[in-house]
Amino acid sequence: MEQFDVVIIGGGVGGLTLALRLVQADVKVLVVEKDKNPGKIYKGELLQPKSLLHFDEMGVVDDILDVSHPLPAIHTYEMKEHNDGTTETMAYIPLHYDRLQTRFPEARMIPHEQLKNILLDRAKTFDSFHYWNPATFKEFTAMDEKAGRFDEARIMYNQEEHHIRSSFFVGAEGRSSIIRRAMKQNLVTTQYNHHFLTVTFPRPEEYTEARMYASHKSFIGLFPLPDNEIRCVMLIKPGDYNKMKKAGLHTFTDPFIQFEPELQDYVTQIESWKDIQLMIPIRHNIHEYVKGNAAIIGDAAHAVHPMAGEGMNLAIQDGAVLGDLLQYMYQSGNLEPKQLKQFEKIRKKRSDRLSMLSHFSALGYAWPFRWYQWGRVAALKRFERHPILHYKHMLNISGVGWWQYTPMDAVRFAGPSWLYRRRRFRKRSKLATFSDRDDYPWRFRNQ
Ligand SMILES: Cc1cc2nc3c(=O)[nH]c(=O)nc-3n(C[C@H](O)[C@H](O)[C@H](O)COP(=O)(O)OP(=O)(O)OC[C@H]3O[C@@H](n4cnc5c(N)ncnc54)[C@H](O)[C@@H]3O)c2cc1C
Repeated sequence: MEQFDVVIIGGGVGGLTLALRLVQADVKVLVVEKDKNPGKIYKGELLQPKSLLHFDEMGVVDDILDVSHPLPAIHTYEMKEHNDGTTETMAYIPLHYDRLQTRFPEARMIPHEQLKNILLDRAKTFDSFHYWNPATFKEFTAMDEKAGRFDEARIMYNQEEHHIRSSFFVGAEGRSSIIRRAMKQNLVTTQYNHHFLTVTFPRPEEYTEARMYASHKSFIGLFPLPDNEIRCVMLIKPGDYNKMKKAGLHTFTDPFIQFEPELQDYVTQIESWKDIQLMIPIRHNIHEYVKGNAAIIGDAAHAVHPMAGEGMNLAIQDGAVLGDLLQYMYQSGNLEPKQLKQFEKIRKKRSDRLSMLSHFSALGYAWPFRWYQWGRVAALKRFERHPILHYKHMLNISGVGWWQYTPMDAVRFAGPSWLYRRRRFRKRSKLATFSDRDDYPWRFRNQ
């Protein structure tokens, strides 16, 4: 029977980040991935600055920077949409990553499969890395439920049944996680009153900014990818997808042309509805990420609404932090499973906060009323113009730190911005940035 140090179920971004971190410390890892071919489903493509910092620690950031598109800011246009179909700009609200005091003050757009290939190719250079693909984890066949210990797993690989043993099991299998079920974790699920349509199409070379256009009844996002392509998303009401398909492809392309006429010759290159993917946002949370010698990371532990571009980043950051902890446990020779709880302690709070932030971002676009848009514009303008609120928001979504929202923010929201001094803000922003001690406290315990 084969024996590993850590078995990771799921070779998505979360599982591969974890695997790379572990094999770099010579931990014997098996990744079990069921899909043979690159995934055709659209998954996250926007890398937040904190994920870049983790990839820097792992020595792969240059490979990622080489093939990704930089976004120093996200430009939001709130539009007035007249009944005759014409539009005019009501407010322009840029949100700047480049105000952050961090090594990578920008987000990056990268095709999801390309990112996975970078991680996989690097992991494959280590002898301690084992990759079974296509292979499917079926169930645990030996466990002590009372002690929460999982000893043996049944895996189908090369059309044969394998029983493997491992010191630790990690569920990185995405939303339908078998390990989460084995851990008896119940999901708390939030559904939304909207869906998204998404597709990639060519862009002009000079179209390099990420832009979102919102009116009282429409929302579209345009996020440039490398190689002169662009990822677009459109918010629709549930049920509209089938109606739009019947009415014709123009019902999808027209709003892009309406808000961004310079893309007319590009968006019309989309050939069929087959290229356009329906995306149903969902949010789920659970109470525990760890049980005995098993842990879950990424979407297995928390699915978030995609509006703030966090899902993929939470998976990467989970993988990096759990990877560092397991690395440390092997280096220090303390393999007590209860150590894994430290991962939960660090990551659950951060994921819950970003899940909430993504949820509120989604609510901002959830109802198609003019008065609702006015409220959103007023709030966004405040966030953009007040230096502290702007910084706080970008710091929090970047994952680089967390600066708690306080009752004082309500005063900042309502009052004039010149009341607040820059010097104090710099000091506070530094304190709110996560240090190595915050990310990896086990490394500092005996110092
Ligand atoms: C339709 C959709 C749209 C999204 N849009 C965005 C977005 O705009 N922005 C964003 O940041 N995030 C987005 N996300 C979320 C983002 O893609 C995920 O948060 C991220 O991919 C999670 O990574 P993961 O590694 O946890 O899981 P996944 O990427 O789902 O990887 C899990 C892997 O496990 C494998 N697997 C599952 N079960 C088994 C098994 N039993 N045995 C072996 N292998 C198994 C799967 O094949 C898969 O490769 C979207 C997700 C979906 C589904």
